[in-house]
Amino acid sequence: MPDTQPRYKKILLKMSGEVLMGDALFGIDTKTIEAVAEDIKEVIEYGIELCLVIGGGNIFRGVSLAGKGMDRANADYMGMLATVMNALALQGALEKVGVYTRVQSAIPMEAVCEPYIRRRALRHLEKGRVVIFAAGLGAPFFTTDTPAALRTAEMGCDALFKGTSVDGVYTADPKKDPSAQRYESLSYQEVLAKDLRVMDASAIALMRDNKTPIVVFSIRERGNFLKVLKGQGVFTTIA
Ligand code: UDP
Repeated sequence: MPDTQPRYKKILLKMSGEVLMGDALFGIDTKTIEAVAEDIKEVIEYGIELCLVIGGGNIFRGVSLAGKGMDRANADYMGMLATVMNALALQGALEKVGVYTRVQSAIPMEAVCEPYIRRRALRHLEKGRVVIFAAGLGAPFFTTDTPAALRTAEMGCDALFKGTSVDGVYTADPKKDPSAQRYESLSYQEVLAKDLRVMDASAIALMRDNKTPIVVFSIRERGNFLKVLKGQGVFTTIA
């Protein structure tokens, strides 16, 4: 049932780096990042405490060079640095539209941003600042899904919103299979058993253990973030 009351007070938004590419094949599209910043602003003005985890796939993913013979751990550190670049780009776009932000990195780099300090991040959220968590877990052999689930728990968020280019979880890839059906809701166990690849299994398991829902929606449609937050429009809930 659509409603207009906030269902959640504090949430984490996980975006894949690819969201920032727009229609390009690589990098950051300024028009896209500005539009995403406007959508985030709407959610902040609605009174939600928001933190963000952004991937790095639009710039670099460790597995891609590891597959060509590079040391996996080294390649993953490069991937983590890509997430810092995206975090800074998003910080710039958000501050341009008047949203206060802090970037905290799991790999300390004081000249660029704050180190990750849980209690300080909580204080930023209380003050209405958007906290962007960069550099994943600071450890290789992960993607940004698991840090997104971990920070959701650490920050005491009511839900993890996963903003993608698709409007929910489907039985098959809807871009390749026109008969694919969207799920309204799924259990964590179904996602794992059906190997639906919404997020890494370690992230799904962490969300399950903390009994926190995941909302999968399209962040490519303008204005959709707030709409979905209000329980309107199209999305899939995993709980
Ligand atoms: N990464 C890592 N540890 C982490 C988070 C990320 O090693 O805790 C590296 C890994 O190489 C990953 C890359 O950073 O592929 C970029 O993150 P991700 O693949 O999640 O980006 P997305 O697909 O969400 O754009």
